[in-house]
Amino acid sequence: MHDVIIVGGGPAGFTAALYSSRARLDTLVIERLFAGGQMATTYMMENYPGFEEPIGGADLALRMENQARRFGAKVINEAAVELELEGPVKTVKTTNNVYRAKTLILAMGASPRELGVPGEKELRGQGVSYCATCDGAFFADRVTAVIGGGDTAVEDALFLSRFCRKIYLVHRRDSLRAARVLQESLFSNNKVEIVWNTVVEKINGKFGVESITVRNVLTGEVKDIETDGVFVAVGNQPNSELVRGKLELTEGGYIRTDENMRTSVEGVFAAGDIREKVLRQVITAAADGAIAAYMAEKYLAERKL
Ligand code: NAP
Repeated sequence: MHDVIIVGGGPAGFTAALYSSRARLDTLVIERLFAGGQMATTYMMENYPGFEEPIGGADLALRMENQARRFGAKVINEAAVELELEGPVKTVKTTNNVYRAKTLILAMGASPRELGVPGEKELRGQGVSYCATCDGAFFADRVTAVIGGGDTAVEDALFLSRFCRKIYLVHRRDSLRAARVLQESLFSNNKVEIVWNTVVEKINGKFGVESITVRNVLTGEVKDIETDGVFVAVGNQPNSELVRGKLELTEGGYIRTDENMRTSVEGVFAAGDIREKVLRQVITAAADGAIAAYMAEKYLAERKL
């Protein structure tokens, strides 16, 4: 029996692991893939304090994992498939094992949202991608289209401009949601053409992406734009399927917590992007993780568990 099991090894999960293992709690992190979650697919981060020069997301993730391990946190790479939250003993079933703990910290994060248009599923991995840093290099000297107007879309377009001949940024409105500093870089990048007020209706191609059919939402004009790749960057959805119906979620599926990361179930805490909050960043995920671990420690101490 562990004191704390943390499900998810992103910045929230590993910061929680750092704090709980440093508090001498028996801590287990269960991560299905590799350290870092979405952060690991971020090429460079320039807004995590303490790094004057940008640091790679995967690099920072590994450092967070190693830091938590240094204080005794154990990490296993297995996918959690079922969680039992009620009662004094919490259970995590993975594909291979069953683990038990007195407290749980849910830090499963979020995943890229799909556009939901014809051709998207069919051409996924054949030109349709949700990760520019993972797949961008396959598009050297090619034409790509990025869909979305947030930080991810603009960062993706800028990243792709290192490899691609031309990038269309297709956005459904006439202004971007992305941070000003990113917008400035985008507007001065001559490889990027912004296609305003436009939505994607279809992704076309036989054995790979050949074009996208787009519609101007103001004029109604429909046309095809030739492109070799489509990078979808239209936001995220929480990875909360395992707790649906087991604790309180928002309409969008995010876990509701109080400001101390307590969920609606005793002894179960949530941290990071899976939680309802206003700002989803690595720094806020890490802060959530620290609070969740502190509250788990307090919960155990108060109950003398
Ligand atoms: P986001 O901020 O939710 O932006 C999603 C974008 O996609 C918006 O521009 C939205 O348009 C558009 N969109 C949503 N659904 C669409 C649809 N069905 N069809 C077409 N367009 C659609 O998502 P994100 O950019 O992935 O960022 C997620 C979070 O991570 C944010 O909090 C962001 O600040 C953070 N993040 C930060 C950094 C950084 O600090 N460097 C980097 C990446 C992400 P509207 O604008 O019209 O709603």
